[in-house]
Amino acid sequence: MNNLLESPIEYLKGVGPTKGELLKKELQIFNFRDLLWNFPFRYVDKTKFHKISEIHDDSQSVQLKGILIQKQLLGAGRKKRLTARLRDSSGSIELIWFKGVSWVDKFLVPGTEYIVFGKPSSFNGRFNIAHPEIEVVKSNSGERPSTLAPVYSSTEKLNGKGLDSKGRRRLISTLLGKLEPSDIEENLPKYLLDRTKLMGRFKAMTKVHFPTSQQELDQARTRLKFEELFFLQLRLLQMKINNRTAIKGFVFDKVGDYFNRFFKEKLPFELTGAQKRVVKEIRVDLGRGYQMNRLLQGDVGSGKTIVGLMAMLIALDNGYQSALMAPTEILAQQHYNSLREMVNGLAIRIGFLSGTVKGKKRKELLKLLALGEIHILVGTHALIEDPVVFQNLGLSIIDEQHRFGVKQRAKLWMKSRPYPPHVLVMTATPIPRTLAMTLYGDLEVSVIDELPPGRKPVQTLSRNEGYRLRLLGFMKEQIKLGRQIYVVYPLIEESEKLDLANLFEGFESLERYFQKPDYQISIVHGKMKPADKEFEMQRFVKGETQIMVATTVIEVGVNVPNASVMIIENAERFGLSQLHQLRGRVGRGADQSYCILMSSYKVSQVGKKRLEIMVQTTNGFDIAEADLKIRGPGSLEGTQQSGVLNLQIADLAKDQKILATAREIATRILEKDPPLENPLNIRLKNYIQKHKRRIKLWSRIS
Ligand code: ADP
Ligand code: MG
Repeated sequence: MNNLLESPIEYLKGVGPTKGELLKKELQIFNFRDLLWNFPFRYVDKTKFHKISEIHDDSQSVQLKGILIQKQLLGAGRKKRLTARLRDSSGSIELIWFKGVSWVDKFLVPGTEYIVFGKPSSFNGRFNIAHPEIEVVKSNSGERPSTLAPVYSSTEKLNGKGLDSKGRRRLISTLLGKLEPSDIEENLPKYLLDRTKLMGRFKAMTKVHFPTSQQELDQARTRLKFEELFFLQLRLLQMKINNRTAIKGFVFDKVGDYFNRFFKEKLPFELTGAQKRVVKEIRVDLGRGYQMNRLLQGDVGSGKTIVGLMAMLIALDNGYQSALMAPTEILAQQHYNSLREMVNGLAIRIGFLSGTVKGKKRKELLKLLALGEIHILVGTHALIEDPVVFQNLGLSIIDEQHRFGVKQRAKLWMKSRPYPPHVLVMTATPIPRTLAMTLYGDLEVSVIDELPPGRKPVQTLSRNEGYRLRLLGFMKEQIKLGRQIYVVYPLIEESEKLDLANLFEGFESLERYFQKPDYQISIVHGKMKPADKEFEMQRFVKGETQIMVATTVIEVGVNVPNASVMIIENAERFGLSQLHQLRGRVGRGADQSYCILMSSYKVSQVGKKRLEIMVQTTNGFDIAEADLKIRGPGSLEGTQQSGVLNLQIADLAKDQKILATAREIATRILEKDPPLENPLNIRLKNYIQKHKRRIKLWSRIS
């Protein structure tokens, strides 16, 4: 039935082979459907015009109406350009084209009235508009009458071939003229349409391109956004239901001596309510006979490690080995040490493996591992290298998930027979609920949403250079109180040399102020050899140095409870989630902790906003929400590797309400009718079957 929509784009009247190629190359528009689903990103109110005299330095895009009073072709060859002047009752402005010059030249007729749209810029104190959209007033181009004209994303190449917004409007108009309502079949059940009052599908598709009022446009967009998010959620939830019983796994149904003795004799503190809940969720999941695929989310310092340990003890009670994998040597080492300390006296053998474990030591370790004499193996991604063979790996825990690629995780699966190991991924990157629903919508998710008791919120200050001297004094005071201090510098690859120079300069000026032998300063950065890094790190961990100057290598997971001051230099250059992670390094002990965000005098609007948010809240989820709003979903940490969030019309940052509704309705439908067999749901079933590949899924941690 949808055959017409499948027609190759070049067959549409007005397209042809050349334009067809261009549409494919520039916009991935291959057929009629793609053209239709390429939605306007903006609409121009055709009834509202600016006066030319109103244009000022900060003018955004303006719409003008006036007579073209002159035009001039200048230069030749590549330097050819076309200028024209538009006049209205208030004044005149220059229009200028550098590309597609001959094509525009043919179109512009002095003395004619045009509507011009574009962003003015000023040159030598005079305004002009480069490459404006321009059309003849009341042109009889066959375009539908509309006050809100759609604007489509475009490129220079498309514009040069008449495929700018105006050209595309014409194509879509042609296409809509050919379509019957049955070509865009309704895919939502009638009961759902009745209840949600959503606009019908065909109408929405027409109105999103050619709305006659703002209200109509809003309804059309809401309908299409809902559809997009709803089917995505349906698919994710179906997969989640399916996953729970898809892959057989080891049954860990015993809770035995290791777990119980640890709980009674070794637990260093009472678990928080959230930790207890999550341990239970994991326990139940491990006993079901199906592979566990669980994401454990918890803010920095929320106590994920001990939860991981308890899961490993369950594995051990059932006779299986576990692996705990961390993204850096330092963090792996720290896990190794703290696990050993925690289970001290329980006859549990823990091994450590990383690239630095070599020769005889490594050989011995691998032998014990294969014999099953090592119960828990902690390490870096060296764990998943080929020669590492377990006797019976039953559980893999991956800390700080976003640092591991999909391929590496898949390798872990190969380490165990006959079933893949249970997988628990721990991440401290708080993800807004709505985004999590989509990114991890098909996974089981456990959340530790409570910090251990007695933590004092970190006091956060945002300061600039004017504060420098006072800062040094403050540092001295804190050190006198026996505290330790981090000073973190940004380091990004593009400006690596400059950044390192900054770091050393900062280090040297601190050394001048905090002189030996009273003070000792550590320095750690990514260019150091792992052994040197480790050495410096350990000096700080042991309290031999009071100040740790570092680039973001300390970002992930180090635990030095005595460190209570985090100073972040050039804080405006860090992203929110990074700032939050860094701040999480302090506030782990009983003392009041501080985070001081040092920034230059000149900070961009967005930078300022980020610093403000950091001062206002310490809640990771609130910060993640704010980050999502500022940067959009694509740039959130954790989403880059999982693929693009390229939704066609919905926006996860802005359409949270629609998403929540879609998720809720999808959940309710699947609860009652998991296979979607009820005749009332036939449209859903058919649509999913037909469009399985088009409903994009990007999560999958394994
Ligand atoms: P993260 O979730 O960031 O990995 P950790 O597991 O490193 O956090 O825990 C942070 C600190 O909190 C550790 O020093 C740990 O011993 C401590 N901790 C964890 N759970 C509790 C608890 N229930 N009560 C008190 N302290 C706790
Ligand atoms: Mg941790």
